[in-house]
Amino acid sequence: MQKEKSLRVERLKKRAKYCCCRYCGGELNVRQIVFHTYAEARIELYCDQCQKIEYGVEKEAYMSAKAFVEATQFNHFPDLEDNEQRLQMNIAKVCNMTSWQMRYLGLTNESGFTVPVHVNEYGMEQCTTVEDDRLEQLLEEADQWMSQLSQQED
Ligand SMILES: [Zn+2]
Repeated sequence: MQKEKSLRVERLKKRAKYCCCRYCGGELNVRQIVFHTYAEARIELYCDQCQKIEYGVEKEAYMSAKAFVEATQFNHFPDLEDNEQRLQMNIAKVCNMTSWQMRYLGLTNESGFTVPVHVNEYGMEQCTTVEDDRLEQLLEEADQWMSQLSQQED
């Protein structure tokens, strides 16, 4: 039992190194947490900034989710006021989806990424030059893509 416990703690310590908080992107710490309702204290990953137990997400996945939310204005919580908290909730939401997908695809396992990760930081300032005769075709494809996307949302 003791051995099992320390294995878990070792795993959490490792996880704290390659993961960060899904909400604020902050560092995670292994903390002993005392619950009022349980006699026993538990060891969990904890975000000091958010003051909550937080299992976290791979740091690269957080960066990616944050970039996605900022670039697309993704908002899963239309009823909430537009503020820092909502931004964090949206980033965490995307982190959950991304990490689920990555696990499903075998890109991550319980010890992080299984493949080398190359982060492509791209923004609006990055341009692609398109020949005039390709432009019509590209715009048409984009239109089709957008309408397919909106159909899926219905
Ligand atoms: Zn946090």
